[in-house]
Amino acid sequence: ETIGANLERTVAAFGDREALVDVATGRRWTYAEFDDEVNRLAKGLIGVGLAVGDRIGIWSPNCPEWTIMQYATAKAGVVLVNVNPAYRTHELDYVVEQSGMRMIVSAVAYKTSNYQQMVEQTLTKRDNLERAFYLGEQSWDDLIAAGESMSDEQLAGVLASLSPEDPINIQYTSGTTGFPKGATLSHRNILNNGFFVGEMIHYSEADRVCIPVPFYHCFGMVMGNLACTTHGACMVIPAPTFTPDSALTAVSQEKCTSLYGVPTMFIAELALSDFDSYDLSTLRTGIMAGSPCPIEVMKQVIDRMNMSEVAINYGMTETSPVSTSTRTDDDLRRRTETVGRVMPHLEIKIVDPATGETVPRGEPGEFCTKGYSVMRGYWDNEEKTAEAIDSGGWMHTGDLATMDEDGYCAIVGRIKDMVIRGGENIYPREIEEFLYQHPGVADVSVVGVPDEKYGEELMAWIITKPGHEPLTVEDVKAFSAGKLAHYKVPRYVHCVDAFPMTVTGKIRKIDMRAEGVALLG
Ligand code: ATP
Ligand code: MG
Repeated sequence: ETIGANLERTVAAFGDREALVDVATGRRWTYAEFDDEVNRLAKGLIGVGLAVGDRIGIWSPNCPEWTIMQYATAKAGVVLVNVNPAYRTHELDYVVEQSGMRMIVSAVAYKTSNYQQMVEQTLTKRDNLERAFYLGEQSWDDLIAAGESMSDEQLAGVLASLSPEDPINIQYTSGTTGFPKGATLSHRNILNNGFFVGEMIHYSEADRVCIPVPFYHCFGMVMGNLACTTHGACMVIPAPTFTPDSALTAVSQEKCTSLYGVPTMFIAELALSDFDSYDLSTLRTGIMAGSPCPIEVMKQVIDRMNMSEVAINYGMTETSPVSTSTRTDDDLRRRTETVGRVMPHLEIKIVDPATGETVPRGEPGEFCTKGYSVMRGYWDNEEKTAEAIDSGGWMHTGDLATMDEDGYCAIVGRIKDMVIRGGENIYPREIEEFLYQHPGVADVSVVGVPDEKYGEELMAWIITKPGHEPLTVEDVKAFSAGKLAHYKVPRYVHCVDAFPMTVTGKIRKIDMRAEGVALLG
């Protein structure tokens, strides 16, 4: 089944139920109304000359038009290229050229001279980019108008000609470990994953899902939008970009049953001084993903936010994205110490990165997965694709994980972050969790820096709690004495106010390593 055909089934079943709510503007659509908008835009895309397989970009923070574009491109067979709103000229240029997009839709908020210039500059610079549309402007109306002469039958004909295996989406990875790569995903990839993500937390047409995570990322467009539309649930957009207040306001006002976020978002919500003034009594479930979640945060999400059925998901852009999930009846330990077990219809294994052999249960190795969720490849990059997906169809994630006797997995770090000091493998995550217990530490991130004698040495980046003195190497040594093996005690300590982050809220260790090298001269 294609994404468009699946939407039509949902519309047939739940046409008069609410599909989409934009809390910021108060606009709302039933599934029947949503489908009408999707069809009008799909006809417009075909009307302006986009053919099946052509690429169009969308560069906008979350808004209803983003979602409508997602489904309109799916119905027209046009490949949607998600462009990160935080990108500037350099990155925009890169994805425009790399994806070979013919057109781009850009946010109305970007209609400031600055942003417009960026698109216009890229338009003149990149031959493949023919046309730009701005949301909420005349050009957007022109796009819709271009489809007015097309009949419903003609659109149905295009929809019927599409195959679930067709590429429908190019998503660039977060760029945590380097330059973003464009994962090419098919209808089959993301439609199935969205459906099963919803199954794991028992979605139905009764659910109302608050989605403060970005649509340009799979967390928003697949785990959010597709999980909803495959189950007839309602998508609630709290604000164009995340604020803790707008997320909880949306939950209160729209009586949401589910709330999404990376751990830092939940931390910010829980820290709101007027937290108790929000009505969160309708919440039942939600998803936390993207990076590891501290135990204390999970406890509070369950107790203070009523999310007794919250799930932890693990995955990556390249795998549509979710590979493992906790189950709603898993105990607190499993929902904090693990990322759950394999999703339905997928295979996973943990292998020794050097030999490719499956490691014994409990031992760390590279997390590999195989099945419907594995991307078609990196867009126009056969070399990187071959490095990531082996001849047996296994996606090598670059993540280090363990699996217990019951199949529950824990992420222990990334291969690229693993530090080898004097021949000893060190997992920075272990040291971070240890140092996190220091009363003066608000946050900590450990990286490896080159060392002549040992190959690499550890550098701990520390954000101290308000009012606490910066920590010195001696402080860290004293705190670790007798508790941590000597080779795991950081040789360098660097106190900062903030870590370098990706816009998806992940720590850019690659930048910390580079800065660490510079600091050491
Ligand atoms: P890039 O590949 O460009 O360096 P990235 O890997 O951060 O960036 P994404 O595809 O957005 O880009 O993120 C996937 C990664 O996020 C996974 O490979 C994993 O390292 C991490 N991750 C995802 N979910 C979890 C989780 N629940 N717990 C711990 N880590 C997670
Ligand atoms: Mg990655």
